[in-house]
Amino acid sequence: MFKCTEEQQMIIDTVRRITAKEIAPRAAELDETGAFPEHARKLFAENGLLNPLLPVEYGGVGTSFFTFSMILEEIAKSCASTALLLIAQADGTLPIMHGGSEELKEKYLTRLGDGSPALTAIAATEPSAGSDVLSMRTNAVRKGDRYIVNGQKCFITNGSVADFFVLYAYTDPHKKAKGISALVVEKDFPGLVYGKNENKMGMRGSINSELFFEDMEVPLNNLVGAEGQGFSNLMHTLAMSRLFCASQAVGIAHGALNEAVHYARERVQFGKPIGALAPIQFMISDMAAAVESARLLTQKAAYLFDEGDRQQAELNAALAKFFASDTAMKVTTDAVQILGGYGYMKDYPVERMMRDAKLTQIYTGTNQIMRLVAGRSILGL
Ligand SMILES: Cc1cc2nc3c(=O)[nH]c(=O)nc-3n(C[C@H](O)[C@H](O)[C@H](O)COP(=O)(O)OP(=O)(O)OC[C@H]3O[C@@H](n4cnc5c(N)ncnc54)[C@H](O)[C@@H]3O)c2cc1C
Repeated sequence: MFKCTEEQQMIIDTVRRITAKEIAPRAAELDETGAFPEHARKLFAENGLLNPLLPVEYGGVGTSFFTFSMILEEIAKSCASTALLLIAQADGTLPIMHGGSEELKEKYLTRLGDGSPALTAIAATEPSAGSDVLSMRTNAVRKGDRYIVNGQKCFITNGSVADFFVLYAYTDPHKKAKGISALVVEKDFPGLVYGKNENKMGMRGSINSELFFEDMEVPLNNLVGAEGQGFSNLMHTLAMSRLFCASQAVGIAHGALNEAVHYARERVQFGKPIGALAPIQFMISDMAAAVESARLLTQKAAYLFDEGDRQQAELNAALAKFFASDTAMKVTTDAVQILGGYGYMKDYPVERMMRDAKLTQIYTGTNQIMRLVAGRSILGL
């Protein structure tokens, strides 16, 4: 339905080649050791893939959302953690791209361009403020030419390895949503203290960190947009991030489907491949239908972002996010079932895919919150 241009096809072929040669062979090891995918960071930077959405004027390649979505899907088929690295990069870049002054863009976006391996992140979640973002306690108080920031964040992807990140904090807690502001924080700002990196169920080849701010000093110039614009900046960024999460989920589901098909052709029981058995064929058909449906919905959301139809894009991204992630969970679970006892063992990738899939139902807004967001939009509330 959505046809690739020649240029998009070239990018996807490159990503496919790099993934097969360099990413897929390391996926199990990353999962086992919980190491950061340093090799991928270097490789992506060298190939202009660390920030595909970064506009050309800042040293990026300026791909469309549609292309980025396909890149994420392609990588996630083999290694969802490595795709998450690119998602965290985009999440840390978009708030500046869409909300920052030209001066701020010059200062920070150029640091991500021209093959730079610099990393970024987005820091909104706190121990008492997950789905309920407005419960955040981190605050930024103006003092002379700086903000003095106190508080903490948790679960931040790329948190302890980011060169800079976008932080959301109250500059005026009485104003609630209109009192949150976004600030760009560099890793060596005084008062930034790193806590632990989390030990996770899945997506283990990615880093999720606690960050503490103890009278952390941030120059006033590092404000993204104006004071009080942080909440809308965050919501806009999260809407796009849901498309990225959906793309990753489609990739995970397709990767698991491929493993199941391969296994069902090879595994012989009762004198014939299990793929010759009707119940297995039914499962494979259902899995394939779900993957194709999730992909179409995700690609539609990407297309709408590229068209600039913000309201429809955000609705479709929310629909795609919960549908694709629920699909990834179901398809990976069914893939484990098709592989039987071997599916439960770490020798095969489907058990990792099943653990990785779970995160896609939780982050960038849980699937319960996604259904609320989509329902309200459809009902015009
Ligand atoms: C691996 C990982 C990476 C992450 N990366 C980042 C990151 O880079 N930056 C960042 O800022 N955050 C990040 N997060 C945080 C993530 O976005 C939150 O975990 C998520 O929004 C849910 O918040 P919570 O965990 O506090 O759950 P809660 O909000 O406490 O939710 C708990 C349960 O209650 C349900 N629930 C809550 N409110 C409602 C409601 N109103 N209606 C119905 N059900 C509801 C939820 O759906 C969920 O099932 C990450 C999280 C993880 C696990």
